[in-house]
Amino acid sequence: MSQVPLPPNLHINTLAVHAAVERSAFGENSEALYLTSGYVQPDAASAAARFGGEEEGYTYTRSGNPTVTSLELRLAAMEGSEAAMATASGMAAIMLMLFSLLKSGDHVVFSQSMFGSTIKLIGSEFARFGVESTVVPQTDLDAWRQAIRPNTRLLFAETPTNPLTDVCDIAALATMARDQGAWLAVDNCFATPVLQRPLAMGADIVMHSGTKYLDGQGRVMAGALCATEVMVRERFLPVIKNAGMVLSPFNAWVVLKGLETLDIRMRAQSAQALELAQWLEQHPAVQRVYYPGLQSHPQHDLAMRQMSGLGGAVLSFAVRTPAADEARERAFHVLDSLQVLSLATNLGDTKTLACHPASTSHGKLTEAQRQAAGIGQGLIRVAVGLEHLDDIKADLLRGLDTL
Ligand SMILES: *Cc1c(COP(=O)(O)O)cnc(C)c1O
Repeated sequence: MSQVPLPPNLHINTLAVHAAVERSAFGENSEALYLTSGYVQPDAASAAARFGGEEEGYTYTRSGNPTVTSLELRLAAMEGSEAAMATASGMAAIMLMLFSLLKSGDHVVFSQSMFGSTIKLIGSEFARFGVESTVVPQTDLDAWRQAIRPNTRLLFAETPTNPLTDVCDIAALATMARDQGAWLAVDNCFATPVLQRPLAMGADIVMHSGTKYLDGQGRVMAGALCATEVMVRERFLPVIKNAGMVLSPFNAWVVLKGLETLDIRMRAQSAQALELAQWLEQHPAVQRVYYPGLQSHPQHDLAMRQMSGLGGAVLSFAVRTPAADEARERAFHVLDSLQVLSLATNLGDTKTLACHPASTSHGKLTEAQRQAAGIGQGLIRVAVGLEHLDDIKADLLRGLDTL
C-alpha cells in the first residue's frame, strides 16, 4: 500500500498526525484499524507473486498489515529513518535486532546501566548461542573504546538511562562504531524523537519501546526498530516473518494515535519534570536529584545539546537519611503517603508514576551490583505526567514533610 503523499520538509508534529498509509476508498480521516489476520487475493497469480515477494501486497498479518505499516511510516518519518519495523514489545524489538544482525562468535558492547531485561537478554540468553558481550560504564568513552574487539559487531546504548538518567555521547559512540565496522543501536525510549534523533548523530538503528511515551497513556505493549530501508527489508523482515514477534494491528493503531500527541506531551512533561526537579533539589528532606535538565547533572551540557535543550520526563531523587539502614524505610514512607501519584514501575504515562528501583526494577541485583550501579535504598524514581504540578508537589510533600 502506498503512503499519504506529503510535501518535503514537514516538521515532526505535522508528520506525527499525517504520515500513514493512503486512505481507503471510504476516505476516512482518522486512520483505519485493519483488524484482520489474512487478505483476500485478487487472483491466484497475484497471490503467487505476493508470496514470492515479486509484487507488493498484503498476504498474512505476520508478514504485514496496513495499520502496522502506518505506524512504521509515521515513526520512521519522526525519527528521520528510511524505514521502520514494529514489534510486539520493546524487548521483542531488541530480540529481533540481535537475531537479525548477529551470529555465534560475534561480540556486543553495551552499557551496564541499560534496561534490566536488555542486560539479561544479551548477557545471558544470547550468550547461550555463542554471542559474546562486554558491559561498560555508561559515560566512560574510553571504556567503550577499550571493550571493542575485532569481532565486535554491535554497540548498544540507551540514553538517558533508568533510573539515574546517565547520558552518553551518541555522536562519539557512532564514530567508534564506524571505525570498527560495527553498528551503533540506540534505545531512544526515554528521549523519543521529539527530544533526540540518534540517526542524525550517526547511529545506525533506533530501538523503541512503544509501551512508554509513544503510546503515552499506559495502554498497550509495542516496540520498533528504525533503520535503513535495506536493513529493514533484508535483515529484519525475513526474521520477523518467520519468528513472529509482530505487533497486533490493534496495538499499532493505539500507538499510531498516541504519536499524534507525542510532541506536545513530551514538551509539557519535560517542562513539569524540570520544575519538579528544581523544587526537589531545594527540599531539606532530599539529598540528591538526578535529572539531565539540572545544572548539577554531570552530563548536563551534553544532554542539552543532544536532547533539544530538554531533560525528558523522568527524574530520580534520594531521600536524606540520618542512618544508611533507614533509607529504604524513609523512601517507602514517601511512596506510601502518595494519594494521587501511581505507585507503578511503568513510565511514559500521562499519570505520574513513582517507584522504588532498589526493590522493584533493580530488586534482583545483589547489594554490591546495586551499589556499583549507584541505586541506593533511598532512591525514588518519578516519571512525570500531566497532572497539575502543584498537585504532584503536594502529593510528594505528604511523605517528605513527615519523615
Ligand atoms: C520498557 C523499556 C524497554 C522494554 O520495553 P517493553 O515494551 O516493556 O518490552 C526497553 N528499554 C527501555 C529503556 C525501557 O524503558
